[in-house]
Amino acid sequence: MEYKHFSHPHTLTLYKVQPGQQFQCHGCHLPCNDSVFACWRCNFFLHDHCGNANRYVKHPSHSLHPLVLVPSPTYCSGSFLCNACGGPGSTFSYCCALCEVDLHVHCAYLPPKVSHKGHQHEVCLNFRPMDKKGSPEYCKICMKELSLRHWSYFCDKPECDFRVHTFCATSEVKPGLYQDDEPDDQVQIPASTGNQNTCVYQTPVTTASPEEVLAEMFQLQMQLQMAQQLNQIINSAKF
Ligand SMILES: [Zn+2]
Ligand SMILES: [Zn+2]
Ligand SMILES: [Zn+2]
Ligand SMILES: [Zn+2]
Ligand SMILES: [Zn+2]
Ligand SMILES: [Zn+2]
Repeated sequence: MEYKHFSHPHTLTLYKVQPGQQFQCHGCHLPCNDSVFACWRCNFFLHDHCGNANRYVKHPSHSLHPLVLVPSPTYCSGSFLCNACGGPGSTFSYCCALCEVDLHVHCAYLPPKVSHKGHQHEVCLNFRPMDKKGSPEYCKICMKELSLRHWSYFCDKPECDFRVHTFCATSEVKPGLYQDDEPDDQVQIPASTGNQNTCVYQTPVTTASPEEVLAEMFQLQMQLQMAQQLNQIINSAKF
């Protein structure tokens, strides 16, 4: 089987990594130990989840605009800081250029719930910044400080005070998470616990088609243009 990927000029083949072999994914710079899309001519490899990642995704962490998968950051620094984990990246990212939102592919597809041996309950992914002020909060796994701005996993049981870094909780990637908009496969809406920090999947998540994205982008550009024109009118009236 041969595959085409928008970020690479040659066709790719799916290859099962053998024990002892080490490949680095071109999309995220992490090692590949399962299946890879490979171009042997260029020594170019992609995780299957990086190679299969949708070009556009409606992501629940940023419901304003669709996120677009770009092969390299659009910033002049050539790198980005992931809004989910806070870590740097210099290759694939899901971005909203209007809002400067950037996500690693593996962060965009973090599972909504995971189990960790360090806690007896499942923990939920939380996109929202924590509103706790005052004393810093520490990750219950690595004991390092949790950033208020980044995502975390937490236990929603009121009696548990368990919150951890996303990267401490799991290395799992759920590539199909936001692709399927069939009603049967919608992400389950968790029952409200009355806690402000309940799980965040309140709306069904769908993948926007390129046409929808373009239409939406166009609309935004029109709005921006109108705002600029209005600004000019206001300024010219002043002088
Ligand atoms: Zn990858
Ligand atoms: Zn190639
Ligand atoms: Zn990240
Ligand atoms: Zn945005
Ligand atoms: Zn941690
Ligand atoms: Zn718990």
